[in-house]
Amino acid sequence: MTNDSDFETLAIHAGIHRSQFNEHAEPIYLTSSFVFDSAAQAAARFSGEEPGNIYSRFTNPTVTAMQERLAALEGAEACIATASGMSAILACVMGLLSSGDHMVASRSLFGSTVNLFTNILNRFGIETTFIPGADPDAWRAAVRPATRMLFMETPSNPLTEISDIAAVADIAHEAGAWLAVDNCFCTPALQQPLKLGADLVIHSATKYLDGQGRVLGGAVLGNRRLLMDGGIFGFLRTAGPALSAFNAWVILKGLETLAIRMQAHSAHALEVARWLETHPAVARVYYPGLVSHPQHELAIRQQDTGGGMVSFEVQGGKEKAWRVIDATRLLSITANLGDTKSTLTHPATTTHGRISQEERDAAGIRDGLLRLAVGLESPLDIKLDLGRGLAL
Ligand SMILES: *Cc1c(COP(=O)(O)O)cnc(C)c1O
Repeated sequence: MTNDSDFETLAIHAGIHRSQFNEHAEPIYLTSSFVFDSAAQAAARFSGEEPGNIYSRFTNPTVTAMQERLAALEGAEACIATASGMSAILACVMGLLSSGDHMVASRSLFGSTVNLFTNILNRFGIETTFIPGADPDAWRAAVRPATRMLFMETPSNPLTEISDIAAVADIAHEAGAWLAVDNCFCTPALQQPLKLGADLVIHSATKYLDGQGRVLGGAVLGNRRLLMDGGIFGFLRTAGPALSAFNAWVILKGLETLAIRMQAHSAHALEVARWLETHPAVARVYYPGLVSHPQHELAIRQQDTGGGMVSFEVQGGKEKAWRVIDATRLLSITANLGDTKSTLTHPATTTHGRISQEERDAAGIRDGLLRLAVGLESPLDIKLDLGRGLAL
């Protein structure tokens, strides 16, 4: 393997440093600390004079392997792994921003991210303005002298709106701010935001990177200066939202099949989305891979395929939407996504249930909306399972 090997090769070989036992599969280093040869070596490690492992809150070989592999896949100089996707977002903000700084964020973000920005960071003097992410002019208009970071998710959850990464990166840089992209839905297999001008990429590794619904994990990626000297690594080392070596190993093995899984998730999602579009009980389908998606052209310019997330609105509001959910026998009724198993959610009463009806209306989350994370089962079986409730 070389650094310019193809994605599929890097996904399997990057980050491997064999131990003295020459194992073939990556080892799991379940240890909280590392032993030094002497007091002098301990001092050199702690001061940073000598590279090497010290304590697993901030240095662990299995976590390092996962960081190197994910960095290779995103085309990033550096990666810092964290305990969850939320702690990756927290580390990014706490590492780089201070009281008095301002952020601009797309308003269709993951619910906990909105909560973090509004109810927690606000208390520490970091203010966020939320704007419609698909509109580049709205990003530009919201920038202030104190703006330090622009934050987006694309495609958005659950309506799959696309934000233009390259255009918003230019707006950020003109303002002297960083653009951070939560790349959870596409993964680097489909979209590499750093190559489009973003400064930071954030992952919930809990989703497609693991891909099998087993562990929590997260990561921040970007250039070495920003991550290591800029404060994000310092925050992790001091505050401690560290990824466990075991979880890092699970994610490391998940990455090996990422490209092939994302292609299959996308192909299955496209087939299901096309079928839903022709179904008489369905009012509207939201999927970036469909020609009918209002930003289809931008989507295919920015990401390789439409991805695995499909939302659709049924005729008949909440009652009908719940009937579709309750008639399923195969799909899992759960809010998780990025799993081999397909999952189905009613956003208006779950993920978006705590915001007011007016806020939901403004965000376009209607009562008949269903969010489907298309898994790796046969698309035929997924269609049969949805069709039962749709026909009622
Ligand atoms: C799940 C999710 C997160 C949070 O990740 P956790 O690993 O659950 O903490 C952040 N962003 C997006 C887009 C997500 O789907």
